[in-house]
Parts: sequence; C-alpha cells; structure tokens
Amino acid sequence: MVLWRGVIEEYRKFLPVSEQTPIVTLCEGNTPLLHATRLARKVCPQVELFLKVEGANPTGSFKDRGMTLAVSKALEKQAQAVMCASTGNTSASAAAYGSKAGLAVYVLVPAGKVALGKLAQAMMHGATVVQIEGNFDQALAIVKELCQEHDYELVNSLNPYRLEGQKTAAMEVCDQLGRAPALHVLPVGNAGNISAYWKGYREYWAAGQIVSLPRMMGFQAEGAAPIVRGYVIENPQTIATAIRIGNPASWKLAVQAVEESHGMIGTVTDEEILQAYRYLAQEEGVFCEPASAASVAGVIKLGRQGALPEGATVVCTLTGHGLKDPDTAVQTAAPPRTVKATREDVSALLTS
Ligand SMILES: *Cc1c(COP(=O)(O)O)cnc(C)c1O
Repeated sequence: MVLWRGVIEEYRKFLPVSEQTPIVTLCEGNTPLLHATRLARKVCPQVELFLKVEGANPTGSFKDRGMTLAVSKALEKQAQAVMCASTGNTSASAAAYGSKAGLAVYVLVPAGKVALGKLAQAMMHGATVVQIEGNFDQALAIVKELCQEHDYELVNSLNPYRLEGQKTAAMEVCDQLGRAPALHVLPVGNAGNISAYWKGYREYWAAGQIVSLPRMMGFQAEGAAPIVRGYVIENPQTIATAIRIGNPASWKLAVQAVEESHGMIGTVTDEEILQAYRYLAQEEGVFCEPASAASVAGVIKLGRQGALPEGATVVCTLTGHGLKDPDTAVQTAAPPRTVKATREDVSALLTS
C-alpha cells in the first residue's frame, strides 16, 4: 500500500516548493468524493451529484490544503510568527500547522461570531487568540497592518501560497473522477477557494491531465453577498458564519474564474442553507457545517430553475465539518426526548 503524503508531496510539481522548503504537513488532502445518489434523486434527479468532503481534512476544513504550503513557506523564510484574521477555520488550521512547525500563531476573530469548535481548536493548539469587537473585514484590516510592521507571515488567503495549496482539491477531484466535472459548486466567502479551484483545473488542463474544464458556480449567503450585489456589505449577516464576509479579498479573482469558466455566482437564503444542511446529514450521512451546505443549496436552487444540464456531472465542495458548529446543529435538529428509565416509556417513542 502506498501511503498518502499530504498535498505538497502528492502535487509537488504543480507547487512553488524546492528541495530547501521544509514541508510542514498533517497529511491533509485525499478527502472522499462521495456519490450522493439519494440527495440527487430527491432534489436534482437530472444530474450525477458528487460531494467533495473537505471536512475530512486534519483540522476539519479545506483550509488545511493552503495552510500546509503557507506555513512551510513561512518556516522557509524564517518568519517570526504566522498571523491571520478568521471567521474560525483559518485560525484553527493556522494554529495546528503553526504548532507542528514550532511557530508562534496570532489570530484575530470577531467576538461572539466564531463557531465553538473552531475557537476550541485555535485555543487548544496554543495560538494567541484575540477577539475583536468588530467583524471579519475589520480584523483583516488590522492583521494586514501588523504583518507589514512586523516579521509575521500573513496566512489569510491574500497569501498566494494559500491558493496554490488549495488548488490541489480541483486536481484531486479530477484524479478521483477520472475527468473534470461539468459543474463545480462552492460556497463563497472571501472568494479564495473558488479562485483556487479554477487555477487548479486550468493547470491540470494545461498539463494534459483533463480534456475539459468545469463551469465554476459560487453561492453566497443572501445577507452576505457582496459579489452578487456588486458592492461592499458593511454589516454582513448569515447563520453560515464561515461565509459572513462583506468585502472578499479575492473578489476580482473569483469574478475572473466565473467569467472565464462561463459560470455564475448566486445567492441562497439562510433557510435554504439550513434545509440543505439537514438533507445532507439525514439523506447522505454527511455532517457538514452550515456554510458548506450553501453549495448544495445552490445546486438545489439551480435544479428548481431548470438550470442544470441533463446528465451533467456536478461536484459540490463541502468545505468544513459539522462538528465545528455544534450550536447550530443542536438548534436545527430534533431534540432528544427524556423519559423515565423503563422499557415501556422508551418503547412508546420508537416508531418502527
Ligand atoms: C473559509 C470557508 C469558506 C469560504 O471560503 P472562501 O475561500 O473564503 O470563499 C466556506 N466554508 C468554510 C467551512 C470555510 O471554512
């Protein structure tokens, strides 16, 4: 058996590393591509639907693919620390890879707006976690200034190594499917991931690994949809905290990805997101976080609009694990019932 070595070693020839680069890896990547037959039958029967389950990465989100490279390069250039602003998953990933590298990690998060699991991760990995009384966009502005003043490596997706690492997800999808899908659907927050996937598909195509390219379809939450609206949202609102971003860092790249691929960026409501979130858990056995379900909510919406080509292969990226956000899960699902400790009382609740 050949063991998976993490995305840098597996896709080394597509990545900006040399023999001198110290590789910091937690063996990220190689995540499942699940054929979602029940979900497809129920909500979009005209397509072949696949789920790229990025919650299966070491810290529970796709951010690990970019962080392995960003932290390896920070170590190579002997940065004093790594720093990021985060809605949660970037900080969890930076904290884990930073600890593996032996680097100090500084993270800024919006107070009260980070899902519990993500906060727990950053704290446990020993990062210095600073909560600001403000939103993600304000946190990023502060981090940018501090990284310019100090020898700290910025590991937000403004760091080009993040997108370089994240593009490996597109290459993996092609390796798993044996071809490129017709449509690739993603949630869009800071818009780095959709841009990275498009870069990955293009480079794989240029290298002769695939013969066609997918249309890139992005979905923002209705209350946090700056790219769709065409202007910065000062006070973005959505239950999907990982995409609660009003001024995406990779705005231009994402628009370019969508234009070049003849795709689109649309919106889904929080209600549609929650419905897809429950569907995935109850019909496919996949527990993702609310932001991740925006991709599936998007496919469902496209299906209803008749916008999905008959027989097309559609891949939805599920960006993060459901356990990251236990509060939303517990508020969304049916609560457990409490009864007396007797066989009869328990039996009375069982329906089959
Ligand atoms: C970061 C993140 C997103 C948004 O990705 P962008 O690259 O910022 O568009 C979506 N879902 C989850 C779970 C995330 O952690």
